[in-house]
Amino acid sequence: MFRKNVWIEKIAEFDKIMSFAEGYKSFLNQGKTERECTLYAEKALRQQGFLNLNEVSSLKSGDKVYIINRGKSIVAFIVGQKPLMEGLHVLGAHIDSPRLDIKQNPLYESGQFTYLDTHYYGGIKKYQWTAIPLAIHGVITKKDGTKINIVIGEDENDPVFGITDLLPHLAKDQMNRNAGDIIAGEKLDITFSHLPMNKNNKPHYKDYILNLLKQKYGVEEEDFISSELEIVPAFKAKDYGLDRSMIASYGQDDRSCAYICLKAILDAKVSDYTSMLYLSDKEEIGSVGSTGAESRFFVNSVAKLAEKLGHRDPYFYAIKALENSKALSVDVSAAYDPLFAEVYEEKNSSLLGYGVTFNKYTGSRGKSGSNDANAEFVAYVRKIMDDHDVAYQTAELGKVDQGGGGTIAFIFANHNMDVIDAGVGVLNMHSPMEITSKADIYEGYLGYKAFLEAK
Ligand code: MN
Ligand code: MN
Repeated sequence: MFRKNVWIEKIAEFDKIMSFAEGYKSFLNQGKTERECTLYAEKALRQQGFLNLNEVSSLKSGDKVYIINRGKSIVAFIVGQKPLMEGLHVLGAHIDSPRLDIKQNPLYESGQFTYLDTHYYGGIKKYQWTAIPLAIHGVITKKDGTKINIVIGEDENDPVFGITDLLPHLAKDQMNRNAGDIIAGEKLDITFSHLPMNKNNKPHYKDYILNLLKQKYGVEEEDFISSELEIVPAFKAKDYGLDRSMIASYGQDDRSCAYICLKAILDAKVSDYTSMLYLSDKEEIGSVGSTGAESRFFVNSVAKLAEKLGHRDPYFYAIKALENSKALSVDVSAAYDPLFAEVYEEKNSSLLGYGVTFNKYTGSRGKSGSNDANAEFVAYVRKIMDDHDVAYQTAELGKVDQGGGGTIAFIFANHNMDVIDAGVGVLNMHSPMEITSKADIYEGYLGYKAFLEAK
């Protein structure tokens, strides 16, 4: 078998693998929403000398800039030595993860509690989100434009939230339902409070919490209308396994790849081709919206770069530059799980600890909806990995006709550039606790940095 077990064949890297994971865990804990990840990336880029494109009047080879889109997605560039027209080397990952979003009119009182109604975001197994500690992250924007940033449930002293589930003693009917119906979408409601306000010796739960919201945050019930509040698991990223070889955390799809790509461009040398990082939003709901990968933001950003490089007709120039570009769509892959071996075809599955996973194609039912990278480009990428001694493997998303999925690769491909899916194998994907191997995270970093710097 051509693939290498990193823990055996690259054991000399052990300390580097372990220390790289520490920074990664810190990122996972600081970036639980697309907004938080964008802020983290901006801070890290600035520390490394990247400037906001708005701050510079012209650009030359070696310059480093970034552009932020609505606080939820970000691109960064290192201007290469060759003309931009010869193409960019692009790393694209997404910074949104499956979660529960608070509805626009969420608050209600029932029994001895108040609740917040949610609408789930992305593909989840709903039953996995009950009976675990949850945190609230996001913003409430008032009509006058005041923005209140909310993070509750992350500090040791913070309260947490949750969704109740039925005790097994009374779950006879529930347990007879299909797994998809055990918890209905409308039952994914967050327990918000329990203290009543005393009005004429009667408990008023909603009045109490509205009063508290007013006092603590200065918000009215109506302000939920213009909020984006995301419910995410409240636990922190931890080492997983007695040997500490893995990481357990929420949000590793796709923040594992987002972190690796960010680190790759932070550490990349100025190379022949212009390097580009794209951390996109909305992948989990189809890459739609102004901050999703389908948005013109991507092309517009390259055009803005071309403009600052002094090219006339920058938009046309950008389109031509993209046609000559090469991209890695960096997203997680379904790692082989021995406990569910029946859904995988092992030799074409991502194995934890065997390095970067390349998916030539994704899709479902006969590769439908997939990018399916060109063999010539796969060869180009293979050579980069081998030349830099990066452990890699190839995979499909499970057995043929078992299911499937997609990434942002096809969107890059729409710009007529070469692109392949590359990423990290994940167990428990889309669950509140996703698992990765520290070895794969580190090999990803080496591989993507080599790709950015490739001739
Ligand atoms: Mn993903
Ligand atoms: Mn996903």
